[in-house]
Amino acid sequence: MTFETFFNIIFGILGEDKDIAVFMRELFDQILEPPDDVDFINPLYDRSAPTLRKYVNPNDTKHSLPAKIVKQLHDYIEPAKFSTYLQTKSDQTMEDLAKAFEPYIPGVTSHNVHDECADLFKKILDDIIGINQQPDQLSLATIMGESLPPAVKDQFGARLLLETEGFCPAKGCTNELKEISADGSAVLTYVPTLIDVMRPPVFENLIALCPACHARYLAERKSSTQGKMLDFLRNKKQELMIRDTARSVLPRYEIEAGVDRLLRKIQDDLIELTEEDLKALRLNYDPVKVRQKIPADTREQRFLLKKVLRNVQENYNLVDNNLKNLNKEQVIRQRVFSAQIKNLFIDFDETTVDGEPLSQTVIFDNLVRWLHENTDEDMEVCAIVISYFIQSCEVFDVIPE
Ligand SMILES: [Zn+2]
Repeated sequence: MTFETFFNIIFGILGEDKDIAVFMRELFDQILEPPDDVDFINPLYDRSAPTLRKYVNPNDTKHSLPAKIVKQLHDYIEPAKFSTYLQTKSDQTMEDLAKAFEPYIPGVTSHNVHDECADLFKKILDDIIGINQQPDQLSLATIMGESLPPAVKDQFGARLLLETEGFCPAKGCTNELKEISADGSAVLTYVPTLIDVMRPPVFENLIALCPACHARYLAERKSSTQGKMLDFLRNKKQELMIRDTARSVLPRYEIEAGVDRLLRKIQDDLIELTEEDLKALRLNYDPVKVRQKIPADTREQRFLLKKVLRNVQENYNLVDNNLKNLNKEQVIRQRVFSAQIKNLFIDFDETTVDGEPLSQTVIFDNLVRWLHENTDEDMEVCAIVISYFIQSCEVFDVIPE
């Protein structure tokens, strides 16, 4: 059983007129028993109400209770406490619960439903952090010859290669898209690959892959029209194109004017959080170094780290001064804007595609795109403002040692 199903059954019976988010926080309070000497805060209080509602919204397939949250509270789960809590409810409620859980718990009755429910709650939380998905192994033996007309490579090859910066962009692959031959010359080894077979071979629908990943992708496409790799490549292509447009460097005066214009456009109508949400949301006020937040293990991460560090070094004070001045002029409410960015970050951070979280690069690009769409300012200026929030603490968590 998923947490979503479990929660909605319980909410239907015990929720009364409560707000879903409020009830969810309280439900966890009922199963959590941290020792007195431990400084523990139920992590659900760090999440805004709209975020919590997404975890249990049956129409939202992208969000579910994240393993990250469960890990934070897992040590303090005490089913006996939850069982005791349920026992305080009326006989009628126990009968309703037993009836609702009958399809899921064999042998459940109104006399044991408190214990059964508590055990089930714990098991669901265990499963969330116990899940260990293995990536699908695709056999290279199933490779079928299939390729695009050579004209496609002639027309788009160079641009496709350029946007990958010379490395295969497929998930987990680090192959270079050129090889050095015996005589020392570079031989290009990339294959332009059609991402969506139902659409024409235009630049937006093509991506350069190494021959092995190309073959892997053909194999996936042969077995079904949908698949993990299709989704991944589709997102990757978006990411590459955004990164490409963000590469230009604006002159200084345009950056300064752009930051000022952008921040002036941040009006309250951009803020999705209610006053109550803002009060409940804890902002982190300890600035930490960008390097503590973005690991430099992969090329993609190093690229992002470099970009953010450069933005912060060159423009942190510019954004900070502008924000403070506009806050004084009451054009912008700095705290509210920070909270909005934090909330957006959490939303992207907890978004999954086929059970896979988004990478920091994708999250960064999504935040930049959000700002761009809402202010119509240059992507580079938007990236500078988002970089500011990484340094100032709302975006990205510190990597655990
Ligand atoms: Zn590859």
